[in-house]
Amino acid sequence: MLYCYSFMMKFLKIAGIATLFFSLLFCISCSKRDEVPQRPESPRRVRGVVSISRTFNDLHKKHIDAATRLGVPPINDRADAEQHKKDLVCIENSSYYQVDPLNYSVPYLVPEADSLLRQIAINFNDSLHAKWLHPHQLIVTSVLRTKDDIKRLKKNNINATGNSAHLYGTTFDISWMRFKQIDKKGNYETLDTNEELLKNVLVEVLRDLQKQGRCYVKYEKNQACFHITVR
Ligand SMILES: [Zn+2]
Repeated sequence: MLYCYSFMMKFLKIAGIATLFFSLLFCISCSKRDEVPQRPESPRRVRGVVSISRTFNDLHKKHIDAATRLGVPPINDRADAEQHKKDLVCIENSSYYQVDPLNYSVPYLVPEADSLLRQIAINFNDSLHAKWLHPHQLIVTSVLRTKDDIKRLKKNNINATGNSAHLYGTTFDISWMRFKQIDKKGNYETLDTNEELLKNVLVEVLRDLQKQGRCYVKYEKNQACFHITVR
């Protein structure tokens, strides 16, 4: 009986310690998740890259190879796009990016490209925060193009290519010229910003993701956008 009692006490003690340990662990992981990122004491510098055109010069073939591997088969027109909706994610305005009115594309991407787009926008705003700059939304200027869109685009732009990575839902364009300031009053003071500075922050974000093998990027100087394909 006495043996039973001491065994029970030992068991309860161990169970108590274990409960306390796991509660503490849970609290730590919860508080980590809810943590607001701390701003560094002094703003991180915006460095950009030496040459934007040389850094983002991934060949058309690389974009197409990744697009055909990860994307959907080319879609004929808008009605056909509706039929493929189950394989695609609809790209709508979010907290960190806005979608321009789309004349030559439809707002769909494969899930991998959707997650890359969100990652770019989040990293961009994390980076702005670290550099003491005001949060901004990115502007998405083109998403999935149907064969019909490409045909119409070629009529207006002789440089438009027939076999575009945009046909496969893996590719999107982000403006490097326009950004939308997020109307948010923070507790922190922010430094003055301008389009050139924001462009260089975006360049750093894209360079890091490109280095990590997450995407191919082409600097489209005339169209004022980065052409980005998930890989
Ligand atoms: Zn493009």
